[in-house]
Amino acid sequence: MRVSKLLKAILGFTREVVIMSVEVLVEDRPKLVVHVRPKVRKRGRCGRCGELASWFDNGDGARRWRHLDAGYATVELVALARRVDCRSCGPTVAAVSWARHDSAFSRAFEDLVVHAAIVGNKQAAADRYGVSWRAVNNMCTRVATEALGRVDLLDGLVAIAIDEVKYKKGHKYLTVVCDHVTGRVIWAAKGRSKDTVGAFFDALGDDRAARLEFVTADGATWITEVVAVRAPDAIVCLDTFHVIGWATKALDEVRREEWNKLRHTGRAAAAKEFKGLRFLLRRNWANLTMGQRETIWALEAANRRTFRAFQLKEELRDVFALPLLQARRALDDWLAYASRSKLAPFVRLARTIRTYRASIEATIEWRLTNGIAESNNASIGRIRANARGFHDPAAFITMVMLDRAGLTPQLPWATAA
Ligand SMILES: [Zn+2]
Repeated sequence: MRVSKLLKAILGFTREVVIMSVEVLVEDRPKLVVHVRPKVRKRGRCGRCGELASWFDNGDGARRWRHLDAGYATVELVALARRVDCRSCGPTVAAVSWARHDSAFSRAFEDLVVHAAIVGNKQAAADRYGVSWRAVNNMCTRVATEALGRVDLLDGLVAIAIDEVKYKKGHKYLTVVCDHVTGRVIWAAKGRSKDTVGAFFDALGDDRAARLEFVTADGATWITEVVAVRAPDAIVCLDTFHVIGWATKALDEVRREEWNKLRHTGRAAAAKEFKGLRFLLRRNWANLTMGQRETIWALEAANRRTFRAFQLKEELRDVFALPLLQARRALDDWLAYASRSKLAPFVRLARTIRTYRASIEATIEWRLTNGIAESNNASIGRIRANARGFHDPAAFITMVMLDRAGLTPQLPWATAA
């Protein structure tokens, strides 16, 4: 096998790339410097817009790109940055097959680093590949921008979920829209207001909005009022995930009241034990261990009010798992029980649920379950935790889209031709 053929296979080059020469520099790590050029063509493509254009000049000489490492060595590609005369962009550096426009890294190297940033975090990826955090951040933006230019995520939507997601302490939120069919995030923007939801419908356009059949949301008027105007034919469903969230909050209020009562009547030890229950009570009964279940059973004798509140939350969850007709009857029972429970937070919750009853029933009828909102929220939480919070909402949106919109780049060798 000829050395150049071997080298091309190792570096993952396509037939479009011609290797002109190779040298090895020994620094703290050996460095393979590979001088390359694209195959000769009559015309080149504009690096910015991708249109065919005639050659302009040889640019400012050689440019360098960091490529995938080869064994112990780092690899650097060197090529002349020829320019084309693009009709729309003017004289611009021509597109090269091995790198994205305006990047100091090869496409394969960027895909690999972005992949690492998504499954882990940007700092870990930066450390692993010996580049700066900022470089990783820019790679993520470039990869996401390119991927979003290739697909129209807003096409063919039938059922969507509109939700808010916190990206930073102090009431900093994004509005996130998911597709119920694919489970993917299809749109995200800073803020949670009627204007934000309006911006989504602007991007969607009236024709595609008219084809929406279901919109699930958390009952917030900043969402539902805009949906009523911009997608009047869509059935608005109240995401059951949020209703269970309300019940969990009501349960927590009951627990806190009881805890305060214990503290103020001088039963500090019991109060302390009680405080530890908080996270246990929030969880789904089905996910509790036997020991945890025993703790909750013991609550029936120790604190009946909290036990009843826990039951009410779990029963509501069960209601949403039933077929529509049974769910209707069970919900009637639940509302009657909650209203008479003498637990103020649940009396209030019953009132709220009556207000949203039509939307809740629509959700049960059409089985637009909380699955996607739940899994997307969990993943978005993981993205936020991995980054230890985001200062810049744009950077957060980029990571959410890369991870949750199905835009994660494939590992370079998955696409090597
Ligand atoms: Zn152009």
